[in-house]
Amino acid sequence: MTQYITNMFVYNIKSLDVLFTKDIIITNTIPVKQNFLVSIFLSWLPFFLLIVLFFCFLKYSQISNGIGSLFFGKSKAKMLSDNSIKITFLDVAGCNEAKEDISELVEYLKEPQKFKKLGGKIPKGILLVGPPGTGKTLLAKAVAGEANVPFFTISGSDFVEMFVGIGAARVRDMFKNSRKHSPCIIFIDEIDAVGRKRGTGVSGGNEEREQTLNQILVEMDGFEGNEGVIIIAATNRQDVLDPALLRPGRFDRQIVIPLPDVVGREEILKIHMRKVAISNDVVPMVIARGTPGFSGADLANLVNESALLAARCNKTTISMIELEKSKDKILMGSERRSMVMTESHKESIAYHESGHAIVGRLVPDHDPVHKVTIIPREKSLGVTVFLPKDDVFSLNRQTLESQISTLYGGRIAEEIIYGSNKISTGASHDIKVATNLARKMITKWGFSDKLGPILYTEEHQDFSLGNSVSKLKYFSDKTIRIIDKEIQLLVKENYQRAKKILHENIDILHAMKDALMKYETINSSQIDDLMSRKLVREPDGWNLR
Ligand code: ADP
Ligand code: ZN
Repeated sequence: MTQYITNMFVYNIKSLDVLFTKDIIITNTIPVKQNFLVSIFLSWLPFFLLIVLFFCFLKYSQISNGIGSLFFGKSKAKMLSDNSIKITFLDVAGCNEAKEDISELVEYLKEPQKFKKLGGKIPKGILLVGPPGTGKTLLAKAVAGEANVPFFTISGSDFVEMFVGIGAARVRDMFKNSRKHSPCIIFIDEIDAVGRKRGTGVSGGNEEREQTLNQILVEMDGFEGNEGVIIIAATNRQDVLDPALLRPGRFDRQIVIPLPDVVGREEILKIHMRKVAISNDVVPMVIARGTPGFSGADLANLVNESALLAARCNKTTISMIELEKSKDKILMGSERRSMVMTESHKESIAYHESGHAIVGRLVPDHDPVHKVTIIPREKSLGVTVFLPKDDVFSLNRQTLESQISTLYGGRIAEEIIYGSNKISTGASHDIKVATNLARKMITKWGFSDKLGPILYTEEHQDFSLGNSVSKLKYFSDKTIRIIDKEIQLLVKENYQRAKKILHENIDILHAMKDALMKYETINSSQIDDLMSRKLVREPDGWNLR
């Protein structure tokens, strides 16, 4: 009986007296042995709970990866089974070559036996290379969807942990798992997170990354192509990948997915417009023309934003107005209409933006002005948007010089109107972009007659920052002085050209400022009126506001 009293459980019950009396009765009816077992169990219960808690804590803490590597080297790959993938090649557009290249995988996956019999080796690894949002994940899923096979997805960064050995264990586990489900696809997103060139990093955690990468290489060598496991990896930084990954027998096939061209953008828009209620006035080609440089993901976002906007206005379908507004939002950031600005501040912004627009219109070979606005946005107080007529593949010297002049147009307009003592800091971004352009023209693209077509900079991969930094190579002081002079000269010439243009068209500058103060945003047809010194037409729907 005494054991009851030492038992923690009993202490919890307030009245010991009652228990004593009860116990006496109990001893007579229920065998003591059973109570004894229960009591043992109860006395250990808190310890069990503590141990369980300890493991839960381990699992969710960073430390777990060190101590608990025995238990937590499980792969984080998520499996999407065959019937959960409904994506097919019809859902992917704008990358026809890539689609054609990758479609042969579908055959392999559908009938691995057919290829096996002939002794042919199925490719093991495919590397999809392209900017973010161009549909690499989508394309890999489409292959799984078309072939009706399981799809394992994992991100390169899921392998990399603080402690050495975990990533490698995860890789082993992932390959083991996938073999059970063969034929299947393993999709490794952002492979550059583990697959960087070995021995070059300056940041910590190198050893872990290298071990993980080694394990991937070992596993890829270890299995035969005929097993029907195909690894598709995606990256937007092929240049930083370890050459060992790209060797034959590993990711030896590379498929490039570029940003979509105008026809591609139209097709992608059509795919996404199918999923929403679109009004009859919408012409996808018009939107496609106005969105050079947009990726598939940007276009999907554009359609989605328009749907939200239409819903907010209680409309039943999406019209051109919503699509245009969303496009501007993606291009320039959302409006901040609530921002309080004095009239004089607004006026100086109007002059600044007009300066850009007028110079942009009058220098040769410059992209047309699409829109000028002085409505404050997330990223800026005013914006002048230039959109290329066609997709741009390379730029010539004249275009680049025109860009430099146009970039200085804003600052010069302020200087002409308010004098050099009153110029604002608003041109800092313009100055940065213009200076970088001028520097590249001289040191990288060989546009300087004095220095000739020689590369004077080297792009360095800075692994700690994850981007490339250009640095001047080692040259004599004399060469460096010439480089500086050439950059200054280039900037000065283009600055003077912009100044001359604005002086000669000062009346247009004033008129455009007035139009901006009145309408806040002017479009290309209004700019046409201003440039030909005509009365400015009202923007569409101005009377309705
Ligand atoms: P990535 O993997 O290249 O970064 P994703 O495949 O994740 O890009 O694309 C994100 C989303 O953008 C997709 O789910 C899809 O809605 C849309 N998208 C991107 N590219 C395309 C494309 N080529 N065709 C259709 N939709 C696309
Ligand atoms: Zn500016």
